[in-house]
Amino acid sequence: MDSYRAIVVGCGGLGSAALYRLARELGPGVLGLEQFELGHGRGASQDHSRIIRLAQHQPRYAALARAAYRAWAEVEAESLQTLVVRTGGLVIEDRDARQGLATGTRNIEGYTEVFHRFGVDHEVLDADEVMARWPQFRLDGGERAVHQSESGIVDAARANAVHIALARAHGAHVRERAAVRAVRPDGAGVVVETDDRTYRADRVVVAADAWTNRVLRECGLRLPLTVLQEQVTYYATPHLAEFAPSRFPVFMWHGEHNFYGFPVHGEVATKLGQHMGGHETSADERTFEPDPVRRKRYELFVQRYLPRFGGPELYTKTCLYTVPPDQDFVLDTVPDHPQVTVAVGAGHAYKFAALIGEVLADLAMGRRPAHPIDDFSLTRPALTDPAFPRSFHV
Ligand SMILES: Cc1cc2nc3c(=O)[nH]c(=O)nc-3n(C[C@H](O)[C@H](O)[C@H](O)COP(=O)(O)OP(=O)(O)OC[C@H]3O[C@@H](n4cnc5c(N)ncnc54)[C@H](O)[C@@H]3O)c2cc1C
Repeated sequence: MDSYRAIVVGCGGLGSAALYRLARELGPGVLGLEQFELGHGRGASQDHSRIIRLAQHQPRYAALARAAYRAWAEVEAESLQTLVVRTGGLVIEDRDARQGLATGTRNIEGYTEVFHRFGVDHEVLDADEVMARWPQFRLDGGERAVHQSESGIVDAARANAVHIALARAHGAHVRERAAVRAVRPDGAGVVVETDDRTYRADRVVVAADAWTNRVLRECGLRLPLTVLQEQVTYYATPHLAEFAPSRFPVFMWHGEHNFYGFPVHGEVATKLGQHMGGHETSADERTFEPDPVRRKRYELFVQRYLPRFGGPELYTKTCLYTVPPDQDFVLDTVPDHPQVTVAVGAGHAYKFAALIGEVLADLAMGRRPAHPIDDFSLTRPALTDPAFPRSFHV
């Protein structure tokens, strides 16, 4: 039986970050196990771009946002690879469309309140001011927006590969196409079984997102997770300069639907997605077929508000969100088995991935993380009370 100080199950965005942080400390005593090929497109982390932002409307995430940028800067400094591109970011609220909708704090006031609390520079703009600075937008007039200059893009696919490469540089072992069939706490350690090998480790990090419950089966834990099939569309706009990262910000649109968009990055194309717009599925039942209803919805949004952002569709890509009922992360050790650490990104974790890697390494090593993560515990009501209602509609 091969023995390791630590094993990371799942080498997606969060697992690869944890592997790197553990390898910095434990060198060859760390093993990463990935069921598919590294860089596969079946999970949640494989795409050219994810939004990173200080623009948070919930204090528990705002409290982590600056540290997330610092953690990415550390990875960039060690690898000399650019992973974060600051484009500035707009949060646009379509007030007319949201009349009567339960918006909670996901509105301009919700953001500015948190900005003031955390000392984040920002500008509040009306529709005319937005169109004056970004004439790419064609707004109706009832919109309001907040601009934050640090927002931008994390190149997820690149960052996953950089985390894996740096982990290997520190001596970590990484096995792809090595599906973990069981994680079994055993005394103070853990037994990890794959089809062809059995490993023993002092501690295990499970960052398996949509497959989390399957991997944790023998840890006596089943989480109330909803898996959603999300999709993003790339448009081969002919107006490349207008939508270059230096001239067009990442944006989030809070209206009848919550859209988000990117300047030209990765592909020679702009990209649009809808947050929490997907249908419920599972890691096994998900398809790679785009939903034509959402595809049409994206097209109509672009035609109305960003006519030159669009163009021939390059492709539409599907991807998975794995969401607890309260839409909050899971970052904790298993109560009865503290040698097993669990991470679930709840559909919005990539911006924090580098920092979450650090937090997971601390938890796995039995240290109290330097960052406030109590809101993401495994013992919170949303994960333990079967009657806890989902805070989202599917
Ligand atoms: C369309 C879309 C847009 C998003 N946009 C943003 C954004 O703009 N900003 C942001 O911050 N976040 C965003 N997110 C969320 C973010 O991408 C995810 O929260 C994050 O990528 C989750 O990473 P992960 O490592 O937990 O999941 P994954 O990347 O899915 O990794 C889990 C890994 O575990 C492996 N695995 C599972 N079971 C086993 C097993 N038994 N044995 C071995 N390996 C196993 C899987 O194969 C997989 O590689 C978006 C997500 C989607 C889908």
